[in-house]
Amino acid sequence: MIKKVKNAFSSNDNDYHSELLDPKVLTRGEHGISREGISDNALKVLYRLNGAGFDAYLVGGCVRDLMMGLHPKDFDVVTNATPDEVKGLFKNCRLIGRRFRLAHIVFGREIIEVATFRGHHQSNQDDKSKGASELGKQSQEGQILRDNVFGSIEEDAERRDFTVNAMYYRVTDFTVTDFANGMQAIKDKRLELIGDPETRYREDPVRMLRAARFAAKLDLQISPSSSEAIHHHGALLNNIPPARLFEEVIKLFASGQGLKTFALMQEYELMQPLFPQLSPLLKDDRSKEYQFIEKMLINTDNRINTGLRVTPAFMYAAFLWYPIEEHCQKLMDEAGLNHFDAFNIAMNDVLHRQIQRIMIPKRFSAVMRDIWQLQLRLPKRFGRRAYQMLEHPKFRAAYDFLLIRGAVEGGKVLELADWWTEFQEASVDQRKNMLVKLRETEGGNTRRPRKRRKPKKPTSS
Ligand code: ATP
Ligand code: MG
Repeated sequence: MIKKVKNAFSSNDNDYHSELLDPKVLTRGEHGISREGISDNALKVLYRLNGAGFDAYLVGGCVRDLMMGLHPKDFDVVTNATPDEVKGLFKNCRLIGRRFRLAHIVFGREIIEVATFRGHHQSNQDDKSKGASELGKQSQEGQILRDNVFGSIEEDAERRDFTVNAMYYRVTDFTVTDFANGMQAIKDKRLELIGDPETRYREDPVRMLRAARFAAKLDLQISPSSSEAIHHHGALLNNIPPARLFEEVIKLFASGQGLKTFALMQEYELMQPLFPQLSPLLKDDRSKEYQFIEKMLINTDNRINTGLRVTPAFMYAAFLWYPIEEHCQKLMDEAGLNHFDAFNIAMNDVLHRQIQRIMIPKRFSAVMRDIWQLQLRLPKRFGRRAYQMLEHPKFRAAYDFLLIRGAVEGGKVLELADWWTEFQEASVDQRKNMLVKLRETEGGNTRRPRKRRKPKKPTSS
């Protein structure tokens, strides 16, 4: 079978990667994966597909993680059944994706993703003549725009990104087919692309982000050639649709190793294409902007690693905070606007520019705006305002945000953060005292807010 594969590729391998894969079949004793570590739902899917006469394997991150002794966060299945055939086998199946069509089998909160083996793309011209462009499409830069050409397992393995991600587990005989020597790479702690790095990054520039993420999360060293090419191709990320980048960036920083990932992103200059407004502020790692991102990521990592929830809104709000402050200052200096107006315009401008690169859905950007606007309201604590602030649904997030700013900026911001910490912990009487003291030291408007006048009744004429 291996020979057949090599022959099949030798006819058109100048079209594709120069390396041919050399699959090894590992027995249970060799790979050490037991069914215990595999989700019951994933096993159900495998058995059902096998029962209907199809080949089916677990593949990708779950096999890699099991081999590394980690708990996979999800289980991906690959099969020779087409998406429609998969749909015919499962009532709880929905087909998704246009660029990459696949089946989701839904078991309550768990989704098992079932993909059909992907094959190689013909050149664009061949595509057109064969009417295949509906299936596969590549841009002039070599980027794969649509990927629905189905193929064999061998082709599928060549299309995978890293050698550690091209291992296939089969439940019928408990073997793992390791196409690119992934098990050895795990032992060597090496992250290496399959095929020529430049071609593979051109096909899909998101692989550069995946390289940084896996290296940090799995503590692997990116191989010299896979690493070198990233330095030269970061700008290709500008071609990725903003909607796809939203998810990818969350995955980058919410793996529990966000800080380490950020350091790699900086090393490879990958923050620039993702956050063009923030990146120029990160040149000096002692700057408050740099420290702020680091502290936010340390917080995020701690939360994730202790099982607490994180919201992408908080993370994105942090990435854009200093660009907003900077722009706000500029608007005040150059356009003579007051702080309130300048801040609101800056918020809109910075967000608008950011979503040209990363599409942030409204439900998150609304929370980001709350967090930012509350930064302006947190200093205003007189009268009932402090109590009203505690009731605000986004108070907690805004307070956490202020704590990080305080830790980085010190001075008045730190004092304010400490005041809010104390106020939350204080008793009713202590709170009253704190507000009296505040009035004495900072003055301020102690009058009750004026009541709204009733509208005048219209006079009958
Ligand atoms: P994790 O789920 O832990 O983040 P993963 O490797 O499973 O890591 P997924 O995004 O779930 O990542 O992808 C599953 C598999 O699909 C990968 O292991 C890889 O084989 C393949 N894959 C995913 N994205 C790409 C890509 N951009 N290019 C090539 N192969 C990819
Ligand atoms: Mg996965």
